[in-house]
Amino acid sequence: MSSSECLRVRGLSASWGTTPVLSDIDLDVNDGEFVVLLGPNGSGKTTLLRTIVGLESPTSGSVALRGRSLDGTPTYRRGIGMLFQEPALFPHRSVWENVAYGLELARRPREQIDRRVDAMLDMLRLAALADRRPDTLSGGERQRVALARTLAPEPPIVLLDEPFASVDVEIRTALRSEFRRALSTTGTAALHVTHDREEGLALADRVILLSDGRVAQSGAPEDVYRKPVDARVARFLGYNVVSERGTSLAIAPEDVELGPPDSSPTRGVVTLNGFAGRDRVVEVTLPDGVRVECRTSQESGLAPVGASVSLRWRRSVALA
Ligand code: ADP
Repeated sequence: MSSSECLRVRGLSASWGTTPVLSDIDLDVNDGEFVVLLGPNGSGKTTLLRTIVGLESPTSGSVALRGRSLDGTPTYRRGIGMLFQEPALFPHRSVWENVAYGLELARRPREQIDRRVDAMLDMLRLAALADRRPDTLSGGERQRVALARTLAPEPPIVLLDEPFASVDVEIRTALRSEFRRALSTTGTAALHVTHDREEGLALADRVILLSDGRVAQSGAPEDVYRKPVDARVARFLGYNVVSERGTSLAIAPEDVELGPPDSSPTRGVVTLNGFAGRDRVVEVTLPDGVRVECRTSQESGLAPVGASVSLRWRRSVALA
């Protein structure tokens, strides 16, 4: 075990009935590290989290926390924090009492509980809401309470399952940075599940991409984004995948340059042209039916639907 190793998963497989859902997953999270598990819906992310905390049993493989095997340990004794999309707060308890819950369960001394709960409420800007009941709070406030409650007993790691998915879009970005800051203040590691690639890439120290129950790729967000391993990962990351002289190329929408019809051998017809703030989003359909999305400046994206255009790539990644 390396000195900073927090969570270690080896060879983990799981099935629903006879259908395999996770195949031979290896995964590490170091102390204090924020790892994002990213993948399309149905790729097995939630099943992986549930198996790590012991809510599902693996068909094979092992899970260890700080070098201690958790195989066979019931969920409540694993010492892993877990936070879901919908925070399961106790409706008849105040915010303060919700945050105190895990500490009371662990029979911590009263004055330690008081100190810890107050610190958690301060850190997550909840002190003024201490006496409120969960049903009087906004969605974002409820998630902050859920995080305070999860962090209060000082778990070395928390597993976060789409914690921002049911929160209003306007406050999602602020809530993300609040979560990130709270975890780094407390030095807690996180394994955060999302299908939102922008959220995942923006938050992660390291990304693990799951595809069909397998780890397809992992690494620093920039590295994963710049070098997708295959067409599937590339599409998930928002690339166009185009076949040229027998090679598949991944091309980011902002790396597609539109020109007059005769300025490049790659030609197509504009099939959509939409406003996107500073940019325009233009879809061009190639003669073989492949649709290419381009993000371009307002000035260079003026070709109307039905116009013939040519395409050039400023940058492309050859795929295996
Ligand atoms: P994700 O979190 O990436 O969306 P899930 O882990 O929820 O993926 O699901 C992975 C696969 O397992 C899917 O094919 C899904 O249909 C299946 N699955 C999930 N939960 C159940 C369940 N309770 N019973 C049967 N199949 C399930």
